[in-house]
Amino acid sequence: MSERMNDSVIAIAERVRRGEVTALAIAEATLAKIDAQNAELNAFITVARDEVLAQARAIDDKRARGEALGPLAGVPVALKDALATRGVRTTCGSKMLDRWVPPYDATVVAKLRAADALLPGKTNMDEFAMGSSNESSAYGPAKNPHDRARIPGGSSGGSAVAVAAAMTPAALGSDTGGSIRQPAALSGTFGLKPTYGRVSRFGLVAFASSLDQIGPFASDVRGAARVLSVIAGKDERDMTSLDAPAADFEAACEKSVRGLRLGVPEEYFAKGLDPEIEASVRAAIARLEADGCVVKKVHLAHTKHAVATYYVLATAEASSNLARFDGVRYGLRVEGPGPSPRGALRTMYGATRDAGFGLEVKRRILLGTFVLSAGYYDAYYLKAQKVRTLIRRDFDDAFGEVDAIVCPTSPSPAFRLGEKTSDPLAMYLSDVYTLPASLAGLPAASVPCAPTRDGLPVGLQIVAPALREDTVLSLASAWEDLRSRPDADVGPRA
Ligand code: GLN
Repeated sequence: MSERMNDSVIAIAERVRRGEVTALAIAEATLAKIDAQNAELNAFITVARDEVLAQARAIDDKRARGEALGPLAGVPVALKDALATRGVRTTCGSKMLDRWVPPYDATVVAKLRAADALLPGKTNMDEFAMGSSNESSAYGPAKNPHDRARIPGGSSGGSAVAVAAAMTPAALGSDTGGSIRQPAALSGTFGLKPTYGRVSRFGLVAFASSLDQIGPFASDVRGAARVLSVIAGKDERDMTSLDAPAADFEAACEKSVRGLRLGVPEEYFAKGLDPEIEASVRAAIARLEADGCVVKKVHLAHTKHAVATYYVLATAEASSNLARFDGVRYGLRVEGPGPSPRGALRTMYGATRDAGFGLEVKRRILLGTFVLSAGYYDAYYLKAQKVRTLIRRDFDDAFGEVDAIVCPTSPSPAFRLGEKTSDPLAMYLSDVYTLPASLAGLPAASVPCAPTRDGLPVGLQIVAPALREDTVLSLASAWEDLRSRPDADVGPRA
């Protein structure tokens, strides 16, 4: 039985709850969608075929018994392959974990199951979430559905593609320096990075623990709001998760944005910004102003230091987090020849890490080890921590004057596969607009605005004060509603 898959998260959940469609029909339709497109788009590393069919049958049985179904009843949610999933291989985009089958669920995965979601598979990603293009995946890059010769963005590229190509109405990604917002922008979908600590990181393979945060992609803003309300909350197994009352995220999507004060940071419209992106983002801001928002200029003076700061801190934390992949505790083990048992152990560590990690991961471990080394700690790591504080203060000051900041998500549209792989610095610079909100731990989202002349997606980024996901969602859904009006006049050249 085929099933319409353009349905939103909320529409599917309501139809399954009312019994208008079975969860099994939804699961089968989702698998068919994945089968039809995955060879081309490479969005999924693992399709959990038997598992998702069993989940669907269990949901249908539950309904048949007259039990109440959860808020994501029968809603397919694709999972970034950095999220531990009981019984399903979890590679983190790396050969190191090629055959790792976790014996437990990440907290977010357990919460999705409890909400009766369907989990059809694990999505492609840059290795250990390090990258902006999906090209560092050990499983080959996912492709942009708008132009298959282009990257989908990264590191949660597979999750963005799953939603953008309508294989699933929602997905989870993780964002350390932009990995939800940037692929959402480049692939043309909605993606939200919550406040650091809003969502438990338990069971997320760690990249840079002071920055990592899990969040939703969805085909519409309201769908993302529902997924967020399911996954948010304090977790005893993550000491950094916040015990903060959750706003009603779905109600926030219905709230008027009249009178909302929007800050436009001058520093985000600087040299290097593609003129078509600038035109699209400025047109969106003008349209929101015409709809009653109050627009002001603000300054985020330390923006120019964000790339350097992030790549010191993130690599330092990564070098420490990735020490656990030693051939003993997890995943791959490659024996090295050694003269003595002790020598054999040493060469095993080296041989395992050499075979298991790709080039970008090795580069980051080396960089991170260097910035933490005794002679350079003060000059790099400590200094970067101080600049991180200055970046956070810029936002504090700006939020004294405005309720949200609006700016581009990415300085350019999706680039061609291979275009930046030989130039890591050019790749790092493409994160310039997403890194500051990550360093400050703030909630931030990317919502599609008018595409370029070539039809490539463009993202409008919205950043709000800590724990104000409700503001991000109100503004994003107001914008989405404006864009979907039949008389919408929201493009740069309209
Ligand atoms: N592109 C950034 C990096 O390569 C961010 C990655 C992420 O958010 N996981 O580190």
